[in-house]
Amino acid sequence: MVIVMKKGASAEQIQHVIERVEEVGLKSHPIYGTERTVIAAIGDKRGMDLSVFTAAPGVERAVPILAPFKIASVEVHEEKSQVPVGAAIIGGKKLGVIAGPCAVENREDLLRIAEEAKAAGAVGLRGGAFKPRTSPYSFQGLEEEGLKYLRDAGDQTGLAVVTEVIGENYVPLVESYADVLQIGARNMQNYRLLKAAGQSQKTVLLKRGLSATLEELLLAAEYVLSQGNPNVILCVRGIRSFEKYTRFTMDLAAVPALREQTHLPVVVDPSHATGRSSLVTAMCRAAVAAGADGLIVEVHPDPEHALSDGAQSLTFKQFEAMMKEIRPVAEAVHREL
Ligand code: PEP
Ligand code: MN
Repeated sequence: MVIVMKKGASAEQIQHVIERVEEVGLKSHPIYGTERTVIAAIGDKRGMDLSVFTAAPGVERAVPILAPFKIASVEVHEEKSQVPVGAAIIGGKKLGVIAGPCAVENREDLLRIAEEAKAAGAVGLRGGAFKPRTSPYSFQGLEEEGLKYLRDAGDQTGLAVVTEVIGENYVPLVESYADVLQIGARNMQNYRLLKAAGQSQKTVLLKRGLSATLEELLLAAEYVLSQGNPNVILCVRGIRSFEKYTRFTMDLAAVPALREQTHLPVVVDPSHATGRSSLVTAMCRAAVAAGADGLIVEVHPDPEHALSDGAQSLTFKQFEAMMKEIRPVAEAVHREL
């Protein structure tokens, strides 16, 4: 990092900061300018509380040079990561599409959805068995019964099972059925859950928090990675803004912005981002054009009667049409479906 001294900082104050830098195990390299002095502190101390320096007299600010995340960073790992999603890989040339209902509702519908999703070219089956709902009175999911339906539908179709784990205590149960542990937007900063998922052998699909910065998302990913699990997929799913027409605001620039900072694959969830099925296909095309490695899309046989998120769910026909529409976009950006 670089520590910028205030204009007129005394020689004692500068010397004190140099000593503090050395005390914490960094090498100091002061640069004496005509107006002010800056002290380069050399060494890797990410995550260090900068107030160690900014609280010292005569210091104006301390500026970190390295990204605060390390394992997730392109600085450490330049090549893009390829992450398993069941039998498929997300992060390679081929795009990976995950489709399914918001919530698992019953065995028959889920199997039908899985078959339709598979036929249209999906690699994963999504569906919540444990639902983190905003209201405690909303449908909370079928829990373990839903996990069983997911596993059966996954086995029958060859699709990878992607489902949410809502708390650290549920990791053993959910990982016994799922191929991919989804960590929801509302749990992106549940650090105990992130650590527990980091100790799992299963791929983690980490959704961006409603109001989380990209740095916070990458630090959340770092929690999982630092526990030894290298298989993390980031999911961009819209953030809160003042706009009300869409459910959230689709921050699509996050896709190339993440690409500049991390080797982890990035998928886009246009269903939760927009909240409206009429907007989903356009945002799927845009996501692919922006460089997403995949999509996660809500699909329901009868959105009008869905137990959750019907307004943003595509019908089978719409899903199939969407898959056809993204193919030429994928080719235009040198990707395959
Ligand atoms: C979901 O994908 O089922 C979900 C609840 O999404 P999010 O966590 O992004 O709100
Ligand atoms: Mn949903």
